[in-house]
Amino acid sequence: MLNIILFGAPGCGKGTQAARLAEHYDLYHISTGEVIRSEIKRGTELGKSMEGYISRGELAPDSIVVEMVRDFMRTHNDKGAIFDGFPRTTAQAEIFDTMLAEIGAKVDVMVFMDVPEEELVRRILLRGKDSGRQDDSSEDVIRNRIEVYRQQTEVVADHYTKQGKYEAINGLGTMDEVFARLTEAIDSKR
Ligand code: AMP
Repeated sequence: MLNIILFGAPGCGKGTQAARLAEHYDLYHISTGEVIRSEIKRGTELGKSMEGYISRGELAPDSIVVEMVRDFMRTHNDKGAIFDGFPRTTAQAEIFDTMLAEIGAKVDVMVFMDVPEEELVRRILLRGKDSGRQDDSSEDVIRNRIEVYRQQTEVVADHYTKQGKYEAINGLGTMDEVFARLTEAIDSKR
């Protein structure tokens, strides 16, 4: 099993690279943001309760996000996965570690993709033109998401640094350059 957390601010390129890494290492890929967006699109009760958080650029409650991941792990527990956008708080990380331990698994590596703030905003606004994501279209919401990342999520790096599982890479450059840095960082921890 190989469990990889892709970590970084909104717009750092996690989604794009997660898909490539999942193919390269033959792993599952879960994006908690995607799971939430799909609930919203399907108009489920869970989706409806998530809409406000997403549109304001705030984090959804830990308990709900953790249950989404728990559900996913029930059916995807054989070869490992790329976790994209999760965990986003220390509470999520602690519960996640326990969840994995219960099935005899662990996080192998967290890789941080470092991208400067102005580049994050530029990339998200560009993405918003095609993705139609409402939280990608307003600069205020984007700045709030980055602020929420700094306030609540950045600290999760400490959790995995203490476990000796943290790696950082430069997230600027071509998709191929960033991918090469990611695989090098991941392979150093396998
Ligand atoms: P993303 O697609 O990863 O940018 O996530 C989009 C939005 O979904 C975030 O701004 C949050 O509102 C919500 N979200 C996604 N993942 C999480 C998480 N692990 N914890 C809390 N909220 C999340």
